[in-house]
This record gives sequence, C-alpha cells and structure tokens, in this order.
Amino acid sequence: MHHLTEKQIAELRDELLKMRDRVLRSAGEQIRDPSNVAFEGGDEIDRANIETERYINLQRLKTRELKLLRKIEYALTKMDQDTYGICESCGAPIPFERLKARPVTTMCINCKEVEEEGENG
Ligand SMILES: [Zn+2]
Repeated sequence: MHHLTEKQIAELRDELLKMRDRVLRSAGEQIRDPSNVAFEGGDEIDRANIETERYINLQRLKTRELKLLRKIEYALTKMDQDTYGICESCGAPIPFERLKARPVTTMCINCKEVEEEGENG
C-alpha cells in the first residue's frame, strides 16, 4: 500500500519536525516588519488540522518562512492521511532518498523539474 516503511516515515517526520523548529526559531529572530507579510489563507492546506493559535504567530513571519512552514505542515498532514511520498502531479511514489533530501517535496523529480523552472525553492 505504501512504498515507504514505517521507519522511513518516522525518520522523515522527525526531520520535518526539526525543520519546523528551525524555521520558527529563525523566523522569530527575523521579525522586524510584520507589515510586509501577506498571509494567504484558504487553499489546499485549509483542510489540514492546524492549530489556529500557531498561525496567529505565523502571520507575522516573512513570506518565505511562512511558505516553507506551510509545506512542512502540509507534509505532516499528508503523513497522517497516508498520502505522503506520492507525487501529487503524476501519482508516482517518490523515492525515500529524494524525500530524505527534501522532506517537504510533494512531487517526483520529473514533475518537480518542470515546476521548478522559475522557482528556486
Ligand atoms: Zn510526478
């Protein structure tokens, strides 16, 4: 049913949680001008079970951190829904090595290459 083992998922979840910690910490240090942060609500991660109070703080984060944080939350949600590691574009399983290198990824390497033209993230 899933190409990732429980152990691999646990490892990636751990990595995502560490990433989230790092982002929150660095974002906290970087908050200088909350007015230039646009919080975009209402898209695919609306359905995610995200604590509202955490997002109150996130509204102050710079867009870059916020974007990454949303990707992390989204990845964690997908883990809970057992859809993590499946390419959202073509449905192919994403290899563990790729997920390990970039745990927030939602696309296989082929689809991502197409998407990343013009994006550096
Ligand atoms: Zn794909």
